[in-house]
Amino acid sequence: MTDRGVLLEVRGLKVHFPIKSGLLRRVTGSVKAVDGVDFFVRAGETLGLVGESGCGKTSTGRAVARLIPASAGRVEYRGRDGTVHSLLELQREQLKELRRDIQMVFQDPYASLNPRMTVGTIVGAPLVVYGIGDRGARRERVRELLSLVGLSPEHVNRFPHEFSGGQRQRIGIARAMALDPRLIICDEPVSALDVSVQAQILNLLEELKERLQLSYLFIAHDLSVIHHVSDRVAVMYLGKIVEQAESEALYQAPQHPYTEALLSAIPAPDPEIESDHILLAGEVGDPSDPPPGCAFHPRCHYAVEECRVRPPALGPVDGAAGRLVSCHLAAELALQAAPHQHLAGRHLTLDAEALKRARRTPR
Ligand code: SF4
Repeated sequence: MTDRGVLLEVRGLKVHFPIKSGLLRRVTGSVKAVDGVDFFVRAGETLGLVGESGCGKTSTGRAVARLIPASAGRVEYRGRDGTVHSLLELQREQLKELRRDIQMVFQDPYASLNPRMTVGTIVGAPLVVYGIGDRGARRERVRELLSLVGLSPEHVNRFPHEFSGGQRQRIGIARAMALDPRLIICDEPVSALDVSVQAQILNLLEELKERLQLSYLFIAHDLSVIHHVSDRVAVMYLGKIVEQAESEALYQAPQHPYTEALLSAIPAPDPEIESDHILLAGEVGDPSDPPPGCAFHPRCHYAVEECRVRPPALGPVDGAAGRLVSCHLAAELALQAAPHQHLAGRHLTLDAEALKRARRTPR
């Protein structure tokens, strides 16, 4: 990792799950959930990782956080003193120290909170694990954390079932903030919430990012959510990144046919508005037996013979700074931009008024 502004760098990451069959449970193949992924996150930025369900984005996030084992690759993290650590090689104790810096916010706020524990115990658990403060100091810190995420410190003795979905996600965020982290891996943090509550949680994450100088790896399938929060975006398909670019550049001028199709599918806020949806044929391919050549070719409207036999590499495209695309025709295709009226019309406004309202009425 040479760029000192980079906080996290992932190179050639693979997560393959063995397929076992027969009486002896022999390994007969593997599901290539993540199959050679490269990206980086700069300090203070949000990298959005987007793709359909089953594309490998959640496995990528979990492997980076070492919640599941990686099969290959490198994950480098720059610590507070500038030292670069190779996360996949760390032993348990060293990893425990660095885990303070890298926290996760999960998709389902109910499943990720122990229903038998009070909010105070849940949010304070990381402080106990790391032996931070005495009982009184921990109680005070928990109250502080609840205020930080827009909940009342008086709720400290309540249980998760007494809260709404949005409030439960706030509890999950408070727990993630307990150890004063630097990098948060957000795995679909709003996809289980009502649309009206999603904006409040996204605004809270934005506010915390500014206030606490956080960086996010933000995983989601919803393109408008990703547009709202990301500085740069990486698009995943069948275990690989197919396009990576600055957020605005990607939405205004996609250069991979899969990105174009995803953007065209962003729903309009008003069903009366007509849009040119690109219908993707079929399903995402089978990660245990991906198509030869370009894995997207069975669904691609632009596929040519070469696409069926030769896999494209992720690389720069002429004249597009910071853009990486994995498509044989990237330099030739003129693809459609995101339908802007759809993005602008959605609920995801990040204005000061919305933020104030969200703080007044946490749900
Ligand atoms: Fe489509 Fe071919 Fe590009 Fe793959 S390489 S995205 S099949 S045009």
